Amino acid sequence: MHKTPIRYLKGVGPRREAVFNKIGIFTVKDLLYYFPFRYQDRRFLKKISTLRIGEFAVVRAKVKTTNIKKFPYFLRSKKIKSIFEAILEDETGFLECVWFNQAYLAEAIKPGEELTVYGKLYFSKKGTQFISPEYEISGNLDSPAEAKITGVYHAPEGLNQKFIRKIVSAAIKQYISKCIDPLPFYIRQEKNIMNIAKSFEEIHFPSSWLKAAAARERFIFEELFFSQISVFLRKARRIFQKSVSLKIEQDDFKAIDDNLGFDLTAGQAKAVSQILSDIAKPYPMHRLLQGDVGCGKTIAAAFSIGACYASGLQAAFMVPTEILAYQHFETLRRIFKLKAMAFRDFESSIKIITSSLSRKEKDVIYEDLSRGTLKVIVGTHALIQEKVKFKNLGLVVIDEQHRFGVAQRALLSNREALSPHCLVMSATPIPRSLALSLYGDLDLSVIKDMPQGRKPPVTMWVKEDKRQWVYDFLEKELKSGHQAYIVYPVIDDSPDEELKSLKVMFEKITKRFSEFKPRMFHGRMKNEEKLTTIKEFREKKSRILVSTTVIEVGVDIKEATVMVIESPERFGLAQLHQLRGRIQRSEEQAYFVLISSKELSENASERLRVISQTHDGFVIAEEDLKSRGPGDFFGNLQHGLPDLRIANPLRDMDLLNRARSLAYKVIKSDPGLNKKEHSCINEHLNN
Ligand code: ADP
Ligand code: MG
Repeated sequence: MHKTPIRYLKGVGPRREAVFNKIGIFTVKDLLYYFPFRYQDRRFLKKISTLRIGEFAVVRAKVKTTNIKKFPYFLRSKKIKSIFEAILEDETGFLECVWFNQAYLAEAIKPGEELTVYGKLYFSKKGTQFISPEYEISGNLDSPAEAKITGVYHAPEGLNQKFIRKIVSAAIKQYISKCIDPLPFYIRQEKNIMNIAKSFEEIHFPSSWLKAAAARERFIFEELFFSQISVFLRKARRIFQKSVSLKIEQDDFKAIDDNLGFDLTAGQAKAVSQILSDIAKPYPMHRLLQGDVGCGKTIAAAFSIGACYASGLQAAFMVPTEILAYQHFETLRRIFKLKAMAFRDFESSIKIITSSLSRKEKDVIYEDLSRGTLKVIVGTHALIQEKVKFKNLGLVVIDEQHRFGVAQRALLSNREALSPHCLVMSATPIPRSLALSLYGDLDLSVIKDMPQGRKPPVTMWVKEDKRQWVYDFLEKELKSGHQAYIVYPVIDDSPDEELKSLKVMFEKITKRFSEFKPRMFHGRMKNEEKLTTIKEFREKKSRILVSTTVIEVGVDIKEATVMVIESPERFGLAQLHQLRGRIQRSEEQAYFVLISSKELSENASERLRVISQTHDGFVIAEEDLKSRGPGDFFGNLQHGLPDLRIANPLRDMDLLNRARSLAYKVIKSDPGLNKKEHSCINEHLNN
């Protein structure tokens, strides 16, 4: 059944097959896994007089009269070509049903017949009506949906509900007996899980709400179980891959440490030691380093790059923006400006690659990487081009992992004969359940502490009428030598008057603060302009950066201690938290000032309240999740989400935990999935 194309099902011709293909359904198996997203209860018939406007109901009644109106082309309003009406009658009253553009119904529905209609009662100028209800002529036993709990599918254009049900029903009848349950028998028995054949029947055509729920739970479990099987398989396979063990001498470690100018926090020290011990092993490290903005993750990357360099292998440091590439490049060069023999030539062995290099410059870098003369490369997406080949890549570090996908991580590391070690870093505090399904194959290090002496920024939330006060405050801070960011949600002016745009406000700010040489900074500027602007700001030639959220990721400028956010209600919680992270970079007291408009929605006020009251990234992530719902939160992660269709790891935490521990046992006892009782797992994975 697994690979049988759906065109083998009766009723699926080339046109419908194409529509199915468009939504990813190619085989009978795909079709059976295309589940309803909700149900209608069609088991109870209603009398016409008891119908209520807006309510879904099932009515069985006699057709009293019918009428068809066809409109010639020149009389058509909107796209209505015809209207077919049928008046139904039962002992309590009359019900008008209308269908648009289905003139053929005049042949199918005749006065005197008994009809069952499923629909919602609408109210219009013409009175109450059922508009285009589904219908069955009574006694038509062909209909799988009649008088049952009925699934409703996401129906793409070109397929209607009725047809999908019919075809699913046919698929179940024909193929269900050949279906191999992907969950091993002993697991199903132990956990009392409904078998696959019964589950397909019950999820598509439930015999009761209880059975529907049980079937759904089974498939959620199945999905999570297989996502975790894949995770543990990846993990198990890693141990059989070979890497070069990367080691750093005690003296060299000390040389780096002494050159930092500060002591590592306990969290940093622990993360660094976990990482160094991992990469000293002859099989690849895959570790996620999580820690709130500003906790100092870059240092951990530096130590591992140091070990790699000292071991004579190449290291790649991948970052999401060009600004960040330059920043890390400078940081590394500073850290490795050492007398120690091992790092003597570091300065000339590190380069940057970004999309704004010329073709020729890039080609030189590609060449040097493939010859192995270039040892450390910091780069953006330009690093994962087809052309990039390393001579002996020992380590990949990925900063701000949530900006990349799992797939991109694999891209860099899988091309090598010897697998490189892989360190990914993220400031996004992901709830545990999500982390397990996203990054379950990664070992985890968490930095919970902040460098000593850091004071949390003071957050001030004011309304528009306090603008002058904010400007005065800003002036005072600037005069005492600090720098400031002013962040806008949009670049150009918008019709929305309340919304301040960067370009318009920039002029005003330049007038008010001319002595501090404000500069503009946004995503539509050329890369070169961006880099010079940041450089000038870093060197204090300009003291105010008027910016969009492009500065959100990673930018590290210690003297910038004030940030003003315009229209903060336009930003998400996580984003505000990231932005605030930009100014918590030294022992100076930082100020985070929100200027919101006067009228705010309930939801926006709540967000601003949360950001004013807490600094804990995890608390903020959870609040974010609550206020936006998992859909948006997932969306925000952008890439890398495992292919989950009905499971939601946040909602289904219990099932996820059960699935995870079972999957672990399976792979631990049988990493090659060779045992007979696990052949079903293989079968499912490979089809
Ligand atoms: P993030 O975790 O957000 O990437 P960074 O690595 O950019 O943070 O570090 C933030 C700032 O803190 C940098 O300027 C860095 O030099 C500084 N820093 C890192 N670790 C320490 C420490 N242990 N003590 C003092 N400052 C530190
Ligand atoms: Mg960072």
